[in-house]
Amino acid sequence: MPRLQRQNKIMNPRVCSRQVALAFLFALGLPSARAWDYEGHRIVNQLALASLPSDFPAFVHSPTAAERIAFLAGEPDRWKSMPDLPLRHTNNPDHYLDLEQLAWAGLDPASLSPLRYEFAVQFAAGRAAHPGKFPPIDPLKDAEHTREWPGFLPWKITESYDQLKAACSYLRAFEQGGGTATEIANAQFNIVYLMGVMGHFVGDGAQPLHDTVQHNGWVGDNPHGYTTDPKFHAWIDGGFIARAGIRFADLAPRARSAKVLTTVPAAGERDAMFAGVMRYLRDQNERVVPLYELEKAGKLKADGSPGSVDGRGFIEEQLLRGGEMLGSIWLTAWRTAPPDQYLLDQLARRSAAAAK
Ligand SMILES: [Zn+2]
Repeated sequence: MPRLQRQNKIMNPRVCSRQVALAFLFALGLPSARAWDYEGHRIVNQLALASLPSDFPAFVHSPTAAERIAFLAGEPDRWKSMPDLPLRHTNNPDHYLDLEQLAWAGLDPASLSPLRYEFAVQFAAGRAAHPGKFPPIDPLKDAEHTREWPGFLPWKITESYDQLKAACSYLRAFEQGGGTATEIANAQFNIVYLMGVMGHFVGDGAQPLHDTVQHNGWVGDNPHGYTTDPKFHAWIDGGFIARAGIRFADLAPRARSAKVLTTVPAAGERDAMFAGVMRYLRDQNERVVPLYELEKAGKLKADGSPGSVDGRGFIEEQLLRGGEMLGSIWLTAWRTAPPDQYLLDQLARRSAAAAK
């Protein structure tokens, strides 16, 4: 069963008009969901939690918070189960970046604007200037008007990092400036939420088919005879992980330590985190051809054949990379969050007024 239909059934077992509408949208040929399945996303978020140093706030490791962070790894895909076009228009392209489209539009992937709408204007102009580079869009398959965009994954990740940094700032202000227990708990809840949801998008970036136009089977010139099967994406999203039995517990001992990422832009960069996220996505794009090579060699069947070890190793490596990057983004937000001076001043005034 397609993943979105399955999720709808879990969330609302009654057959409702929403499901009928969704079925209609699928009948129009909307692209399949483009993500690790829930299980893969959970593993990435759990690996990121395992990557954190001991001085990271302990509240994120409580059983409740840790399970919530793992559960939230699936949240942005749950949003996809709604047929509402405004949500689909904004949410769906946040899950991928078809990197090759940047060059088609005459843009350098190494020097994109970190500002989402500024980039959108630049991309639209580049697309209009190079119409022959882009395949035609069938309006019947583009109800939410997303196909004219390459995806906005690095902007979503960077914006999420900035939101998490803000939450770290105001948690510290509440802790240091006399916030109530409820205020501190609310700030902690928000940090858990932001960490979990952000993890989905960083996990998406670790799936190489989220970083390429070759996302649903190979398209265009195909001299090496790579698979053109549109189901290839779904197999990498979840089919392989399920059949191979890849579990967090098995990968946990290999979780890589989170590192503080640079927050100082290099020459020519406008935002260091955005630049770092782009490097991360470009690195995973480099894994697209090796992934298709594995498929061609029959090593992605998870059937216990000797070559399956290579396929399993590739998928595990991508999950480990996702966990490492996610943990590093969380750690960087926590370590570099500036003081929330406005809130500290407000709390000081509140304390002074209460003391009168
Ligand atoms: Zn996704």
